[in-house]
Amino acid sequence: MKQSKIMVVDDEPITRFDIKEILKEKNYQVVGEAKNGEEAIKEAYELDPDLILMDIKMPKVDGIKASSIIKEFSSCSILLLTAYSDDEYIDQAKKAGINAYVVKPVNEKELNPAVEIALQQRANHLKMHKKIGKLEEKIKERKIIEKAKGYLMDQQGFTEENAYRNMQKESMEHHIPLIEIANRILASHSK
Ligand SMILES: [Mg+2]
Repeated sequence: MKQSKIMVVDDEPITRFDIKEILKEKNYQVVGEAKNGEEAIKEAYELDPDLILMDIKMPKVDGIKASSIIKEFSSCSILLLTAYSDDEYIDQAKKAGINAYVVKPVNEKELNPAVEIALQQRANHLKMHKKIGKLEEKIKERKIIEKAKGYLMDQQGFTEENAYRNMQKESMEHHIPLIEIANRILASHSK
């Protein structure tokens, strides 16, 4: 299995160190670290991590703002690490699309399961994305096949069933996918 890539973002070097130690213990790969939101955005773009552990209170750009920007270009999971558990922060975190929230001080007992769940969310997200992409492709193909069928009906007087059968027969006899047959019919039509 591919090792997950994790980024650690916190303005306190000692906190980054502690988190990295916990992650290394679990054999996670820490691919980058940043000390403020601005750096985090830049690195997330360059490193394309699977998960970012993100502090909230940081100079320049805070962790919630950085997270919402990162979520616009990346499908990584983001786990907020913060000393604050006020409703206001939780609300903002929800709006920013945060995947998990762990209250500091960090300990491995709480961090490890949160990291695992957040990584799983990322994997699920990718799987779903792939599925949606395939479905969209299928719908697109279906539309082209329907169009080619309509052309055969209009131009060659086929019934709907016969038009479809004719295309299927071509596809089977010449070992060409149905979509390709449909594309060829439409291409010859537009000439
Ligand atoms: Mg901080």
